[in-house]
Parts: sequence; structure tokens; C-alpha cells
Amino acid sequence: MMVFQMSSRRDDAKWGPHSHCIVCGVAIPENEKYCSKICEAKYNQETERYKRQQKMSYIFIGIMGVLIVLMFLLPMLLPDLFA
Ligand SMILES: [Zn+2]
Repeated sequence: MMVFQMSSRRDDAKWGPHSHCIVCGVAIPENEKYCSKICEAKYNQETERYKRQQKMSYIFIGIMGVLIVLMFLLPMLLPDLFA
């Protein structure tokens, strides 16, 4: 699971400027995104999956749109079928 952790002001005062691994939330040096290659791979995997899901939902919406348009157009194009 993807967990985004925002560094709080209290943390900054205690530890100095730093970031958190965007996958597991472990404290890491500033300007870093991941604590390890494992988390980087995990994050890329999640992102890929998310992109795929998004693409699938666009395709689904597209198909639904085409079906709705067809439902309106078919009776006009082929009135005999629906008479
Ligand atoms: Zn991590």
C-alpha cells in the first residue's frame, strides 16, 4: 500500500530538515524520495498499477459513451429494427 507521510514541523525541529520515504514513511535525507531500492521498486509498481487501472477506467468510460451514443443513434439509423 502507498502511504504518503507529511513531515510535521515538530519533526523538523527535532531532526532537522529531512524527508520521509514516500512508501514506508521512514525518515531519510532531504531530497530523497525512497529509503531503499526496495521501496523505489514498490512505489514504481504501485504507480504502474494505478496507471493501468486509470487507463482501464478511461477505456470503460469510452465504451459506455459509445454504447449510450449507439442507443440513441441505432433507432435513428435502423428504425425498422425498433418499429
Ligand atoms: Zn521506505
